[in-house]
Amino acid sequence: MKNLWDDNEAKQYSDELGLRVYTSRLLGRDTTLVLHGGGNTSVKITQKNIVGEDVDLLCVKGSGWDLETIDRPGFPAVKLDHLIKLAKLESLSDPQMVNELRTHMTDAAAPTPSVEAILHATLPYKFVDHTHADALVTITNTPNGLQKIKQIYGDTIVIVPYIMPGFDLARLCAIEFEKQHNANTIGMVLMNHGIFSFADDAKTSYERMIKLVGMAEDYIKSQSAWELDYDTPANNSADALALAALRRDISKAAGFPVVLRSQRDAKAMSFCNRSDVSKIAQQGPATPDHVIRTKRLPQVGRDVAGYVETYKNYFNQHASDAREPKTMVDPAPRVILDKTLGMISVGKSAKEAQIVTDIYDHTMDIIARAELMGGWQALSAKDIFDMEYWDLEQAKLRKGGSAPQFQGEIALITGAASGIGKACVESMLKRGAAVIALDIDPKIETLFKRADYLGITCDVADEAKLIAAIKQGVTHFGGLDMVVLNAGIFPGGKRIDSLSSEEWRKVMTINLDANLVLMRETYPFLKLAPKGGRVVAMGSKNVPAPGPGAVAYSATKAALTQMTRIAALEWGADNIRINTLHPDCVFDTGIWTDEVLAARAKHYGLTVEQYKRKNVLKTEVTSHDVAELTCELCGPLFAKTTAAQIPIDGGNERVI
Ligand code: ZN
Repeated sequence: MKNLWDDNEAKQYSDELGLRVYTSRLLGRDTTLVLHGGGNTSVKITQKNIVGEDVDLLCVKGSGWDLETIDRPGFPAVKLDHLIKLAKLESLSDPQMVNELRTHMTDAAAPTPSVEAILHATLPYKFVDHTHADALVTITNTPNGLQKIKQIYGDTIVIVPYIMPGFDLARLCAIEFEKQHNANTIGMVLMNHGIFSFADDAKTSYERMIKLVGMAEDYIKSQSAWELDYDTPANNSADALALAALRRDISKAAGFPVVLRSQRDAKAMSFCNRSDVSKIAQQGPATPDHVIRTKRLPQVGRDVAGYVETYKNYFNQHASDAREPKTMVDPAPRVILDKTLGMISVGKSAKEAQIVTDIYDHTMDIIARAELMGGWQALSAKDIFDMEYWDLEQAKLRKGGSAPQFQGEIALITGAASGIGKACVESMLKRGAAVIALDIDPKIETLFKRADYLGITCDVADEAKLIAAIKQGVTHFGGLDMVVLNAGIFPGGKRIDSLSSEEWRKVMTINLDANLVLMRETYPFLKLAPKGGRVVAMGSKNVPAPGPGAVAYSATKAALTQMTRIAALEWGADNIRINTLHPDCVFDTGIWTDEVLAARAKHYGLTVEQYKRKNVLKTEVTSHDVAELTCELCGPLFAKTTAAQIPIDGGNERVI
């Protein structure tokens, strides 16, 4: 466990809240301490209110903030004396607690304070640090965990038995601290949950956390349980179709489309192929924080339908015990362990699936190490169930508002690095889809840096590479729902009498042949799309209204349009819709450089502005306009439309 404190860095933070920000970020940098919003920290300060009175405040991590990137606004201030009074109540429901926290903040617009705010308030130290450190979770989830903790820490920590996070935990911690603390106390271990450290300055509190967790790691090493052997090699070629089929089944069980991420490195493959994997994996997630995301860990097996059924049964069986059955979360599993597909995480979005992946990546280490220390012994099913249906977590779930249109869906877009393709990427991402973006320009790989974007450099004219890119994309997100056939070239104007066969073939290869490959190779995946597959082809005004000098381009677009009509006939029974857009006058694309634009305008005796609006509506058509219509074609408005050809050209007299 590395102490990351740096005097020079710390100097940038002069006041107490600043130092709280700094050491919180230090904790956040180590994923074995804190992962995706896990853990929380606080500082107690005194501030003057608007009428000049000194008020003692607890600044505690607010919901929606990650320690790694937290800043001052991430620490809502709550009146400390009120929190201390609350801690003395006999009971307080979760909604009541949230209400008390929110009504005693100093800034009405601040985020909701952590559910562990009252716990932080009761500890009589200026700085309090709390993590769900992997090492602590590992040890406390093994047989005789309590004895081990006592052996490691002696009288330097207070030990609190497991209890679900919330008011009751805060109250119990206050009681146990009062009972157990002494002059040597520097921390508090919550069994099966995590660890607190505290002190009156930021540096000491942080360093105590590092020291305490380091001691736990050393203990695991002393038990020869730190180094893990992986006896199954990585699987670098997952079966994309099997993943897509699994995604369809899970989406069906969930009632909405989901994104799958699969981890198939040696660690995940070895874990999934353990002979005892069914037993250890079903004992529950590693810490309370992970519960809401990890849900039940299902049994291993290729009989996917059977397993989803099993999961549902489990869910129904327990539903009657729920405190608030109406707010039950969806019955989809969150982690699937498969002997060949690896560790598969499930999310309502790519981001959520990524979070599940990260959490379970740690959970595999925790379980494997615990197994080497006498056996992974997680919380009982009842405890986990209680946590899952915890009002507060439910409140968090409910808060989200309506889901984006394409949440949980996956779109593949070609020619995506610029122009209409890039605009399609932006519109799809904005509507919640995960995007597989292909382009010959390598900048596609870094166009966006987010969990729901995968950019692949690919020349669509290279059939083998195109097929590989499709497979890579589908494997990355677990399936495919929408395809935008956009990549194309528009070579300079040449009349038939001067067009070489070579030039003709090049345009044919990119604008037409590649789209046949794309349609053929994506079809098996589109067939498995939970809400039905959708394809949008970028045609051209040149299809209904060709002009001289662009025979290769116009011929490919006409042929592509014809292909979509035939695909619509062939794929309708598979619930795949395919429609074509005929854009024109879209000048913010790669084809239209300033010089070309100026030349064309001059040709017509118009200014560039006039030329851009040379259509019936006298309007400019942008890539964004085309992208938005592309998305609409994939949405519910066009749910009953296939094989349509829609102009988006500002109105063209020859087309009309
Ligand atoms: Zn916690």
